Amino acid sequence: MIVFDLACESGHRFEGWFGSTGDFEAQRGRGMLECPVCGIQAVSKLLSAPRLNLVSTGMADPGAEAGAKAATVPDETGTRARMVAARTAFYQQLRQMLDRSDDVGERFAEEARRIHYKETPERQIHGVATREETAELIEEGVAVLPLPFTIKRKGELN
Ligand SMILES: [Zn+2]
Repeated sequence: MIVFDLACESGHRFEGWFGSTGDFEAQRGRGMLECPVCGIQAVSKLLSAPRLNLVSTGMADPGAEAGAKAATVPDETGTRARMVAARTAFYQQLRQMLDRSDDVGERFAEEARRIHYKETPERQIHGVATREETAELIEEGVAVLPLPFTIKRKGELN
């Protein structure tokens, strides 16, 4: 048995268990798959490693930083160093992702949707969007990763 992450046209996500990829295709072809939330039969398989579009909401929450610091255990040897190392690695990875993605600036929400609905060739992008726009994209099932910092200019991190 294999499990697939599935999504309906409205972006509801759910899991489906199948004997094989062919089994999934066959069941979909016969209209046997439907969204458990809305009953729509237009169901598609999500990529197992989704391409993430990076979005800066321009409103990094300063409280999150303070909370993270308060949560560390200062007298546990090495914890802080490990956290710093993990964070550094995370930021390096984000930088590489930014380097490899197209800067679409304030057209981010529009472009992310066009890519999601296959109206334009698939590519990785980054840009800025409001928190509301970002929440809407995630609700629609568009693969978006909000950044923990703001993008000032192309490739430049705050
Ligand atoms: Zn649905």
